[in-house]
Amino acid sequence: MSKIIAAAAIRGGHEIYGQAATFYEKALQEKGEAAAVGFPDTAYYLPMAHALMGIKIETLGQMKPVLDHARDLLGPAPSDALWFPYLGTALDAGIATLLSEEVIMVLRYLYEQEPQADCNGFFSDTILRTLGIQLVDGRMPGFAAILGAAPDSKTAVRIVREFQKRSIMVFVGSSTGGVSIIDQLLQEKVQMGWDSYIVPYGRDTLSGIYPLNWAIRGALTFGGIKPGNPRACLEYCKNRVFAFGLALGTVDDQKYATGAGAIDMGFPVIADTDIPQILPTGICTYEHVVHELNHENLVPRCIEVRGVKVSVAKIDIPVSFSAAFEGERVRREDTRVEFGGKYSTAFEFVRMREMDEVEDGKIDLIGPDVDTVPEGGALPLAVWVEIAGRAMHTDFEPLIERKIHDFMNYAMGVFHMGQRDIVWLRISKDAYAAGFRLRHLGTIVHAQIHNLYSKIVDKVQVTIITDPQRVEAALADARKTYAQRDERLLGMTDESVDTFYSCSLCQSFAPNHICIISPERLGLCGAVSWLDGKVGYEIDPTGGNQPIKKTQTLDPVKGQWREVNDFVYQSSNRSIEKVSLYSLMEDPMTSCGCFECILALVPECNGFMIVNREFPGMTPCGMKFSTLAGSVGGGNQTPGFLGVGRLYALSRKFISADGGLKRLVWMPKQLKTFYGDRFAVRAREEGVPDLLDRIADESDATTAEELLEFLGRKQHPALDMEALI
Ligand code: SF4
Ligand code: ZN
Repeated sequence: MSKIIAAAAIRGGHEIYGQAATFYEKALQEKGEAAAVGFPDTAYYLPMAHALMGIKIETLGQMKPVLDHARDLLGPAPSDALWFPYLGTALDAGIATLLSEEVIMVLRYLYEQEPQADCNGFFSDTILRTLGIQLVDGRMPGFAAILGAAPDSKTAVRIVREFQKRSIMVFVGSSTGGVSIIDQLLQEKVQMGWDSYIVPYGRDTLSGIYPLNWAIRGALTFGGIKPGNPRACLEYCKNRVFAFGLALGTVDDQKYATGAGAIDMGFPVIADTDIPQILPTGICTYEHVVHELNHENLVPRCIEVRGVKVSVAKIDIPVSFSAAFEGERVRREDTRVEFGGKYSTAFEFVRMREMDEVEDGKIDLIGPDVDTVPEGGALPLAVWVEIAGRAMHTDFEPLIERKIHDFMNYAMGVFHMGQRDIVWLRISKDAYAAGFRLRHLGTIVHAQIHNLYSKIVDKVQVTIITDPQRVEAALADARKTYAQRDERLLGMTDESVDTFYSCSLCQSFAPNHICIISPERLGLCGAVSWLDGKVGYEIDPTGGNQPIKKTQTLDPVKGQWREVNDFVYQSSNRSIEKVSLYSLMEDPMTSCGCFECILALVPECNGFMIVNREFPGMTPCGMKFSTLAGSVGGGNQTPGFLGVGRLYALSRKFISADGGLKRLVWMPKQLKTFYGDRFAVRAREEGVPDLLDRIADESDATTAEELLEFLGRKQHPALDMEALI
């Protein structure tokens, strides 16, 4: 490491440690050793200290070892005369810096000084899990943490847009000369938040710990690494988290120190100023510190240095197109025209045709275009897609149709909700001004179907209809097919197919985890159904979805098959010998970490509770979702606890070996609303039509005792069932 950088990093480390120590003394005096400290919504205490040192901090008094360790790593304060910085010292200073910054931040939480205005503050475990699936399926190839400020706000916007175009999540913060990139982006009215892939963490360099103590949790959550293994945790980050830092403007000692911490985690730092470069690769997969003075080249250079694999879809439309715009909303006052919702009829439909019936690339518009509508007005809309391909099958129609939602949302300034005939679409004034017209919807659909499904689809033609009568006529046609599809899906059972599919997408984060996907049990992320698995295999026969033909049934009740067990054993690096598809008490499936819901045993009540990851409150098993989740992931089998997709609860095979739906005793209101009528249908089949009313939610019970009392009052069936343990 360059001596200049090393010296600056060590100076910065001492400075930050000093701040932490002073703040800590003050807090001890004012609040006392027993005062509770912690970040919101995490099961990992002070994550950096927890991962690297294995300690669980819940009170002020327990923080002392962290500061002691930081001080030891730093060594005596430098005196310029007798001190020779070398790589090891600077890197130790990096770790000391991260530990000290984390202490400062958690103390700020104690004093309610965090999160800062317009900032996210600490990144929760929930966010980590929610993003898991986007990371593994390639929608989000990496992360950038920006520190400082661009020369001007327009350049700031240009830089983040370049990242957005490549679907790279950007954390923005810190400042240069008193100006933060956060305020530059606010000034330019850039939409920020998790949905738009731009997340402000805080306006000082110290808050740069947030993206870092978030990244380190990946090792614990998905990697199954035990806390207190610094080397394994840092290695995990280096190998599996594609992140890098971008320093804009002057790099001061604090930034060097924080940068050294990032380098320890394997994240290189790129600067837009003429700082010394550290090129030989060692700790990082690539260079440690690189400068790129030309702002036009900055983003491509970052990506090259970290080796992030980005594929930008080339689509001939007048607005940017990437997953980063998926969550962007178009507000009413920014809307040029809208379709569906409560304003008009709108629907989407994908149908398979014979090869000679489809003309690839043909896009027709039947009816008026957007220009004919007054600003803020509405039009009816049909997006009628016909596809043909030698390997195409009608089963794939609904799957591809559902993807239209993602495709259209990727376009900047286009907002899409729903599917089939409950679609709602908005086109913004900006997109309109850029030249976006209805035929571009067809361009998007055509290009994306080819991009994603080239193995099964050879030809795509799109008809956009806005003529009211033609829309209604086409809709009547589509509805017949929707109904047929529903029937077909309902009739599909695990017994009716001879092949299940695996999904190993999450192995990039959770190396021992494998999902087995059957018609009646979808992947725990909620995003992969049996049909998705089948299509995934057709598209990429050597990819993450492999067919498992089941011929030898070992236990039809628990859901065990010889071939499934063999497959799981091989693909879990020989760590899991058998799984039961229908049980959570015996040999349950493993969990990676990105599960939508957790099922957990409530022993007092002879049943299970289910909680979704969005629910922040306490549950009757004495833990919040985040705490529960901390013990479920990482590719381990944990009988009594299971990560599941939320729709699994509506399946007839829902933990059927353990008693099924009637075992459910508690769920948050949100989930009750989500399940609604569909739950009632299943409850009737189970012979308890009012089951949902007999299941408690957070307003009825938040402890096991309250829950038991509630269930007794409601005569919940679980109380009379065979004992679970
Ligand atoms: Fe990950 Fe399982 Fe979802 Fe595949 S199905 S993406 S392995 S959680
Ligand atoms: Zn996962």
